Amino acid sequence: IVLVEDLRKSFGSLEVLKGISLSVERGQVVALLGRSGSGKSTLLRCLNGLETISSGRIEIGGHVMSYAPAALRALRKDVGIVFQSFNLFPHLSAAENVMLAPRVVKKTPKREARELAMEMLGKVGLIDKADVYPDQLSGGQQQRVAIARSLAMQPRVMLFDEVTSALDPELTGEVLNVMERLAAEGMTMLLVTHEMEFARRVATTTVFMYKGLVHETGSSKELFGRPSTSEFRQFLGVTS
Ligand code: ATP
Ligand code: MG
Repeated sequence: IVLVEDLRKSFGSLEVLKGISLSVERGQVVALLGRSGSGKSTLLRCLNGLETISSGRIEIGGHVMSYAPAALRALRKDVGIVFQSFNLFPHLSAAENVMLAPRVVKKTPKREARELAMEMLGKVGLIDKADVYPDQLSGGQQQRVAIARSLAMQPRVMLFDEVTSALDPELTGEVLNVMERLAAEGMTMLLVTHEMEFARRVATTTVFMYKGLVHETGSSKELFGRPSTSEFRQFLGVTS
């Protein structure tokens, strides 16, 4: 469902992605790990068409990457992305935030959009907060609304970039639980995370990025159990 071939991305003279190849099957959960600056966010942004690539090829959710506006709109119906900052509309309730994209992009009738929003808020455990405004929600709740908002487009692939990094430690668990449930329901997901325990336990596959390349990849159990490169061992804080 995701196929990346020799993807390169430069910002000016700085080459950030240096030939990434990656394939993800439907239902896989892929953890992207790596030091700050290794290119994790850039890769996710390329997968959603938020960055144009310098060379290579991306196929995702049934779309071959192309930057025509109509192609990008079609892509983004099928590929959701959630960031560290949740960016909810403050003047819209939780349900209205979730309804917005189906209403605007898919022209879903209001009543149907509301039902869909309630279903998605149910998935993230926030039915009772449907009519509450973002400033009355905790950071963890806001992030769960942001996830519900993305799910409302009924994407085939979900991308998560450090979605718990801005949260207080006591709030990260509830967001990770939502993601774990999504994974259990069979959602195909790629996630950048610093939650090593979560990556190890929930991700089927781990990709360790180093200096713009996939340095080590494989099943999470094997990779965490027996990291083969010194860079990944060092990243994990294993001394050997
Ligand atoms: P972190 O763990 O800190 O989030 P990351 O692995 O997500 O790091 P990226 O954000 O992908 O790293 O950045 C990789 C490199 O690309 C960095 O050197 C960064 O400064 C550079 N970079 C990212 N976005 C841009 C941009 N829009 N313009 C110029 N350079 C950029
Ligand atoms: Mg990043």
